[in-house]
Formats: sequence, C-alpha cells, structure tokens
Amino acid sequence: MPGLFDEPSTSYVQVAVERGVDKFPEGLTYGVPERLGSLKIGQLVTVPLGRGNTPTQAWVIAASVEAPQLPKGKETKQVYEKDRDAIVLPEDLVGLATWMSQYYFSPIGPTLSTMLPGPVRSGTGLVTRQLVDLAENPPAYEKITSKQQGILDALALLPESERPIEPAKLMKLASVGSKGPIEKLIARKQLTCHHVTRVEATWFRQSVDAKVPSQLTEEQITAVDAISGTLGNYASHLLFGVTGSGKTEVYIRVIQQAIAEGGCALVLVPEISLTPQTAARLMGRFPDKRIAILHSALTKSQRHQQWSLVAEGKADIIIGARSAVFAPIPIGQLKLIVVDEEHDGSFKQDQSPRYHGRDIAIRRAWASHCPVVLGSATPSMESWWNAVTRKISTLHKLTKRAPGLVSPIIEIVDMKLERNAGTIGNTIMSRALERNIHETLAQNGQVLLLLNRRGFAPWIACASRTCKWMMKCDHCDASMVYHRRKPLEEAGFVRCHHCGLEQRVPKQCPDCAKKVIQLGAGTQRVEAILRETLQIPDEHIARLDSDTMKKSADLHSMLDAFGRGEIKVLLGTQMIAKGLDFPNVKLVGVIDADTAIDLPDFRAAERTYQLVSQVCGRCGRGEGSAKAIIQTYNPTAAAITLASKSAYEQFATEEIAFRCASQVPPATRMARFIVRESNFETASGRAESLALRLSLDAIGGVVVSPSAACVLPRIADKYRFDVTVTAPTSQELQKFLQNARKNVQAGRELAIDIDPISML
Ligand code: ADP
Ligand code: ZN
Ligand code: ZN
Repeated sequence: MPGLFDEPSTSYVQVAVERGVDKFPEGLTYGVPERLGSLKIGQLVTVPLGRGNTPTQAWVIAASVEAPQLPKGKETKQVYEKDRDAIVLPEDLVGLATWMSQYYFSPIGPTLSTMLPGPVRSGTGLVTRQLVDLAENPPAYEKITSKQQGILDALALLPESERPIEPAKLMKLASVGSKGPIEKLIARKQLTCHHVTRVEATWFRQSVDAKVPSQLTEEQITAVDAISGTLGNYASHLLFGVTGSGKTEVYIRVIQQAIAEGGCALVLVPEISLTPQTAARLMGRFPDKRIAILHSALTKSQRHQQWSLVAEGKADIIIGARSAVFAPIPIGQLKLIVVDEEHDGSFKQDQSPRYHGRDIAIRRAWASHCPVVLGSATPSMESWWNAVTRKISTLHKLTKRAPGLVSPIIEIVDMKLERNAGTIGNTIMSRALERNIHETLAQNGQVLLLLNRRGFAPWIACASRTCKWMMKCDHCDASMVYHRRKPLEEAGFVRCHHCGLEQRVPKQCPDCAKKVIQLGAGTQRVEAILRETLQIPDEHIARLDSDTMKKSADLHSMLDAFGRGEIKVLLGTQMIAKGLDFPNVKLVGVIDADTAIDLPDFRAAERTYQLVSQVCGRCGRGEGSAKAIIQTYNPTAAAITLASKSAYEQFATEEIAFRCASQVPPATRMARFIVRESNFETASGRAESLALRLSLDAIGGVVVSPSAACVLPRIADKYRFDVTVTAPTSQELQKFLQNARKNVQAGRELAIDIDPISML
C-alpha cells in the first residue's frame, strides 16, 4: 500500500492543538518527517487533523516519544510543517502551561497560545535584508575595476563571524560610494546574495533622572538583606509598605544583586498606565543594563522586537503587565520575580484561561528556583493570609514613608450632610473639596481627583416623582450611561457599559411622556463642573479615563504634561490611583469612595480600602503638607475610616475574621461556574442541574452553593446563573475539580473561574 506520507518518520512528537478542546489532555502523537529535522518542545507546528486532515496549528509538548501502536493498515500522521524557527516557547513555559491547564480548567493548546503575543505569531515587524558574501568558486574574470577589487578585498579581510554582510556596510568598508560595483559582482557570480528575515530590535531608552537615596532606612536594609539571601532558591516574600515607603528602592537593590549573579529579573506591574513610569525609573537606575518592555500598548512590531530580545537571552530586566509573566526567558536565567502592586485586579485575566498573573509568578518562581517578591501598600487578603496565617511567605514591613515624604492629612466628608445642606452643586463636589481645590491652586499646588465611573451620568430617569422609569439596556440588566460628546456641550448619547450598545437619548419618558433627567455623576460631569467653576485656563484641566485614553501615547503625553505642571487639575478613574509619583500634588480628592462598597461581593470592603488608601498615597511625595479629601455616604464604614488612618493591619485582621466566619477566600478556595444561555429557563435549569451534579462529588469540606442568578443576570442577551464551590484548601478544590472534569466542560455556555476575583 502506498503510504500517505512519502518520507519515513524519523521521530515522534506529542502536540496540543491550538484551538483544541480538552479531549486529548495528553496530546496527540505525530511522526516527524526527515525534512523537518528534529522538533523542539515548545515549537509551533502545523499538523493534519481529523478525517479531512485539515491543516491545524499545534504546539509540540513532548519530543522523542515512542511510536504509537496502531492497528494494521493505519499510519501515524506526520507533522506538515514547522512555523518560523523563531517561535519556540522555552520548555519551562510548556510545563507551566500544562500545570495551568489543569489548575484553571483550560485546554493546554489555547493556554500555550496565550503565552505568545499576537505580533510574534503573525511575524509583524519582520524585516528581510539582503546580505552578500564571497562566492565559493568564483568564475575568473580578467577585467576587474579597482572599486570591485576593493570590495572583494574588504570582504576577504572580514572575519567569518561578520559575513555575510549588508551591502551598505560593505560599501563603507571598501570606501565605495555607490552600490554599482557590488551589483556587478553579484551579476557575475563573484559575490553571493542571501536574504535573511529577522526582527531588528532596538532597546527602549526613556529614562528619567533617578536620584539614588544616599542611605537606605533600617527597614529597607532588613528587607533587602532578607530577600537577597534567598537568591538562588525559591522563596516567597511579601513586601508590605505604605505608599512612598521605598518599596521600589528595595526592588532595585535586589534586582542589582540578581543581575550581578548573572541572571535576569522579571518585574510585573499592573496595567499599562504604570509600565512607562516604572520602566523609566528602572532605566534611570540601570543605565548600562538592557531592559525589555512587554506590554500591549507598544506597537505590534515593538512587541515582537521586545519579545525576541527576551527570547534571545539579551535582557537583564524585563518589565511588563500581566502577560509578561510568560516572558520567554531562556531556561536558567531567571533569578528574581517582582510583582509590584500585587493586590491589583488587573493581574487576573477575565477570559479563558482565567489565570492570575501574581499566582503564575509564584508558580514560575518556584519552578525556576528563584525568589518572588510581592509588593503592596494594601496587600490582597490572599497574600496577607499566606504570609501571616499560613506562613508560606515571609512578611517584610516598611512602616514609615521614606525620608522627605510627608503623610497627607486625611479628611472624610459625610455627603449626607452635604446633601441636606442642599445649597451648592453639592452632591457631587462638597464645599470642603471645592474650597481646598481653590486653595491648592492658589498656592500653585496640583490636584488629583478620582471618580471610578466613566461617562457624564450613570442613570437616565423620568423627571416625574411618581414614575419609576429608568433607561435600561435592551440586552443587559444594566442602566444605560449618559455620555456627552464634548464636556461642555449638551449633546450626547447613552451607552451600555456591558455590551457597548449605543443609543440616542429619548426626548421624553416612554411611560408618562414627562421630561427625562440625568442622575448621578461620572468623570465627564465632574470635568464639566470643574471647567465651569474653576477660574483657570481650560488646558489646566484634564480628564484621564479609558474614554479619553484611546492610545497609550495619549496617556504618556497627559502624564508628562501633568509632571511638567502644565496640567493643574487631573481627574480620572482608577487609572490615576495607581503608582503615579508627582511631588507637587498637594490635594487628592475621592469624589465617591462608595463606588465599590455596595457591590454584592465579599471583596467590596477590601476594594474600597485599597482604592482610598492608594489614591491618598498619591500626595505628599514632595515638599510641604498635603491633604486628601474622601467623600462618602458611609463615613463610618471600617474600610474608609481605617484607610484614612493607614491602619491596614487592623483592617486586614478584621477582614480576615469576616472571611473566616463566612467561609470565603482566602479562608477557603473558590471555583465559580457561570452558565450563559440565551433562554432564561434553559439557563436556570442548566445551572440547577450543574449544582446538583457537582454536589454529588462534594466530599470532605467541599461546599457547593445552590445555583443563583448572577448579580448581573443578563449581559448581551445571555442569561447568567452561577454556582460557586469552596474547599478548605487548594488541593481539595483541585481534587474535586479533577472529578468534575469528567462531567463538566468549559465552553461558550459555561465559564469556569478558579480563584475568581469578580463575583458579578
Ligand atoms: P514606594 O515604591 O513604596 O511607593 P518609592 O520607592 O517610590 O516608594 O519611594 C518613594 C520616594 O522616596 C522615591 O522618590 C524614592 O527615591 C525615595 N526614597 C526611597 N528610599 C529612600 C531612602 N532610603 N532615603 C531617601 N529617599 C528614599
Ligand atoms: Zn448592554
Ligand atoms: Zn415617566
């Protein structure tokens, strides 16, 4: 029988299909034809799949495996092609993906693909260059010009390693002014011509002058020594220090030592807004080190370039957001991982694989035998629990702000009193806040205002007191948010923040034909109020949220302008709560500290504490006094009063007690199953039977909640129900999930979220 494949297989590999489901967790075996040479683990290949042998991309997850035993007459299929040689994930990442696919209930192929940035996959930014070299057996020519001879001589003098060479460089070496002689020599076959395709990467240089503290504080020294002492081994450290206590300085010192030991350090920061600042600071402090930046706001070719630099082992420091935890660092080079602002929610990916960058960092550090440092002024309850209760992580405290920094005076404003006082434009901006803004500006200070809500007004409602109409999205159980086209113009539209639907604002109430009004305030409304009430030039006020920041360049230029003092009042969503370091900020205002507090989520208090505390940390970084004003309808809530006193430890102790009493994370480990169906009955029925099925497997301390409609019961026409499962430990949860896997598969209709951080 003639074989389907002409060449014999020289070896066999196991592959995981990219879009594959969980059907073949151990992978599929394929033969490798001779022409492909040997394939490496972590390589991207194309294989024939299914009856039709559809070319399908897949990752090699095991090499040199045994030939499978097939029934007579059947042949093992062969790998069609390998992708560009450059696309190879280091073997340890393949191991990590295998673990992730188990832990997070996500198939291994797609998990591996998550690790590869899109532009690397698509080859964006690859440049093909022509290179020339001496021909091996050049035909003899009698007539040769002196320029041509010069070219040949220059090439002959070059060491092997520098050949082939670019024509332009060769012209320089031979002092020839035109490419003509080279072209002639190629035409006569005295020179050979090669084409090489590669990424041509340059390093970023955007450093700021970074002052080096002359002396570390006692607490910093203790932390640096303790962390450095674990270089070379796995260890987990929690660096808990109020904002401005010098955590970054601690990272810098430990990174120095990690590099000195011949390795590289990986630094993870939340979201894009922080990366440039942190990167610039590190570049300032490491002027002669090579720093790669991995984040989605770079151009596609830049992302490809930076990734390649890392893969080639050229970077000393790698800095990036969540997915940078998958930086393709060659095996053995990783000596330290830092996760800055480890409590930040952006480290968790909200689509499959729903991994947590911080937890992956810990796992990767463990596999790489290197320490991981989690830093925060407001550690997540999980990390606090690991350090204080489980003691699997070492706690280091920086209790004081660094020398030269002051703690801001914090004032809580009860908005109920403001509303009752009932004068001003009041329920949005209290008298105290208004007065302080004026005073700060008069003294040439800068102001930072936080409101975690986009748009102009979060609600459109009927003006009649007796009518209950409120505008909802047709496809989601959520209010439509009013957006103005321009801050000072009435014209606008409404948008659903869950499905993106945009509509015109109705002229009148559809139920009673009365006028419609806009209730509540988002950043646009605050901007309008500021522009109307503050007597300062328009360009001194700026708003920073994801509506104004379409490109990361916008963000940079706005932050730069704020840093130069050209913007006096910066207003924004949580984007401004993170890590910004501007010494002239003398006033911080939290317009509404309650945006998180009322959410039906057991982390509501934790989020509120973090938000208030982080934003207050943005001021008092320079000379003179500084103030933070927090507006709230819950002036006695522990999250707010303790945050205003910087009493994190007390907050954490109380919060952990609450989590233990209610048996939620970190006291337990959680998995959340979300059923999504277009039909309400189907959704509720499926969720109910899922809960039933899961509870059959619930042994030991595993608790399966009854199914219930989600807090957002419908998004984009899908009805949503969830079932949560808790277990005393991760091991018990994983054991339970292992069993559940037989009956339950994640997919379009069922999302499975392990260690969920959003309960909406
Ligand atoms: P964090 O990361 O905890 O917010 P930083 O490391 O950014 O704190 O430090 C805040 C400021 O204090 C920075 O400008 C830093 O240069 C400065 N700083 C840090 N450590 C010291 C020190 N030991 N002496 C003087 N200044 C310091
Ligand atoms: Zn919607
Ligand atoms: Zn009405």
